[in-house]
Amino acid sequence: MKLIVHGGAGNITDFAIRVPGLVKACKIGYEILKSGGKAIDVVQAVVVEFENNPYFNAGTGCVLNIEGEAELDASIMTDDMKAGAVAGIKRVKNPILVARKVMEETDHILLVGEGAERFARIMGFPKYNPVTAKSKERLEKDIKKLKMGKNTTERYFPKIKKLIDEYGTVGACAMDKFGNLAAATSTGGVIMDLPGRVGDTPIIGAGTYACKTGAVSCTGWGECLIKLGTAKFVCDSMKTMSPQAAVNKAIKLIGGMKGDAGIIALDKKGKIGFGFNTPKMLWAYVDENGKIQHCK
Ligand code: ASP
Repeated sequence: MKLIVHGGAGNITDFAIRVPGLVKACKIGYEILKSGGKAIDVVQAVVVEFENNPYFNAGTGCVLNIEGEAELDASIMTDDMKAGAVAGIKRVKNPILVARKVMEETDHILLVGEGAERFARIMGFPKYNPVTAKSKERLEKDIKKLKMGKNTTERYFPKIKKLIDEYGTVGACAMDKFGNLAAATSTGGVIMDLPGRVGDTPIIGAGTYACKTGAVSCTGWGECLIKLGTAKFVCDSMKTMSPQAAVNKAIKLIGGMKGDAGIIALDKKGKIGFGFNTPKMLWAYVDENGKIQHCK
């Protein structure tokens, strides 16, 4: 039984305030593992806990796009190649639960925007506004900063990236007592992104991947993570190297693109790896003795 989780990477403000939430999410997942739960239920429960905590950039309190809307992305995958994802969904509390429904109740992998929301309603998820007063205030501050800048094209990627120093996506990789692997990731994207922008998180193979080799969840600058097909790249690399070496290899390549990344990985032997090229990353895992190790 193994579990590794992340709460994003970057120049994270409120780091110390977020650590208890990170540990709590990891604990919740570990309890499910110990009671014989399946890997998919574990990663889902961890991500739901993060989505409900306004200190993380997923679900309630996530960062807002340039028009002040929360556009949520999430994906989930198991090692039997089943996957589900939603992108740009606006009025739901837990996008990861909708992603799981896409996986189990449709013939598709990814639903976006309005269609994803309509599907969520059909599946019984009520309307919910994930925007908080704090997330609005933060956007207003950042827009003010942007307006004071000289280069107005900074409003578009990649230049806007210079203003962004924090990636708060959440994710988890788990292996249950049956040896099954699963990964899940959820995000509000990058602050001030353009409406309709989709990052790596809901893209199977970019932000999330699971197969018989291992499970991976990523955070960071989505455009770079997509270009490398990062989660799949790390999974493929784990065929011939340790999860740590695979993560290091991916981080080096992303660094070469001047991108930012934080990655967690778990292989079929239960070995973990994690790494980041940002100033900080919120990570936690359960060690061989059942103790939660986490960032300080
Ligand atoms: N990877 C996410 C995205 O680009 C952002 C993050 O990790 O916080 O949408």
